[in-house]
Amino acid sequence: MTDPSQSLRHYIIDQIQKSGPVPLGQYMDLCLGHPEFGYYITRDPFGEDGDFTTAPEVSQMFGEMIGAWVIDLWHKMGAPKSFDLIECGAGRGTLMADALRVIAMDHDCVDALNIKIVETSPLLKAKQKETIQLSRIEWFDELDSINTSESCVIIGNEFLDALPVEHFRFTNGAWTQRHIDQNAEGFEYVWLPVKEVPNDALPRDPVASKIYEISPARDRFIENCMSVLTENTGAALFIDYGHTQYDGGETLQAVKAHEFISLLEQPGQCDITAHVNFKAIKDIAQKKGGAIEDIITQSEFLGSLGIMQRAFALQNVALKKYGMEQGAAKAESIHNDLKRLIDKDQMGELFKAICFHHGYEDLKPAGF
Ligand code: SAH
Repeated sequence: MTDPSQSLRHYIIDQIQKSGPVPLGQYMDLCLGHPEFGYYITRDPFGEDGDFTTAPEVSQMFGEMIGAWVIDLWHKMGAPKSFDLIECGAGRGTLMADALRVIAMDHDCVDALNIKIVETSPLLKAKQKETIQLSRIEWFDELDSINTSESCVIIGNEFLDALPVEHFRFTNGAWTQRHIDQNAEGFEYVWLPVKEVPNDALPRDPVASKIYEISPARDRFIENCMSVLTENTGAALFIDYGHTQYDGGETLQAVKAHEFISLLEQPGQCDITAHVNFKAIKDIAQKKGGAIEDIITQSEFLGSLGIMQRAFALQNVALKKYGMEQGAAKAESIHNDLKRLIDKDQMGELFKAICFHHGYEDLKPAGF
């Protein structure tokens, strides 16, 4: 069997030899999504034995809270007879399966629901097919290819952080852009002059030599979300790690087996993500006519949806079902999962939630 890491390395070297150093964003895109050798294409990366653990993989409570959020929103949207719940980057399908269990408690809501999943990985699509039990479900490679005329609720957890970023630097009176070149040992970073400067996304008065991280791919994706919402009405909810204020600096990171590694070492063998600039998302959604809620922390979002009460209920069930000793151990593990999701020094504060919508005056999505 060919080693995908070597194959991807050769593919990138080939690109460099043909057309020169590749921009950072293109490198990230190839590493994560190359149709044959990309990271998400070749593996299921989640959990203790994998490379990283996302909130839905920490606890069923995360997806359940989103399920409750969707029911509430659907009622506030006037309970349309049919609506699309679109999840972008659904991983193993755990979030959707947990949400669906809750949505199923509202018969009218579940009857109105069509699930649409935007997912590039065939391997993860296959997992999602096993995990999510609903007949009205379809898969798409990109948001653009969903042709819908229904009201839409778009959701995504740790999806935006996987969209490629670019690095720019202002030196000697001109912008340069980070590229990947090859040298005798492997890959290296080089800064090259920029043909077209994305002025709108970069500061007007840059600090010399400071790195500015932007994500044209993410910006385009948010614009596409807004097109879907303006054409059909609806709301989008994204949860991810990131910042609400940004004045420069790089956040791009590569992770393998829960440890940070160099981005250039093992192309296609490690997860690559960057902090999401929530302020940039807010600005774009607003510019495209979206109504925006205040950006809040994951802790605030899950807390106001009732995750503490849900944890308490699950603990009670565990104690009743498994008896004192085993039940107490299960209750403690539920408590630890809860802490992981909402504690300040864990995912609670670094992770944020943003919601924007279109077509409903005075819509007040739960949690915000
Ligand atoms: N939401 C899941 C998975 C997060 S990992 C969870 O929270 O567990 C990122 C997911 O996005 C993976 O399923 C990956 O295959 C998918 N993905 C990455 N880039 C994508 C793209 N450009 N388009 C669609 N899906 C993408």
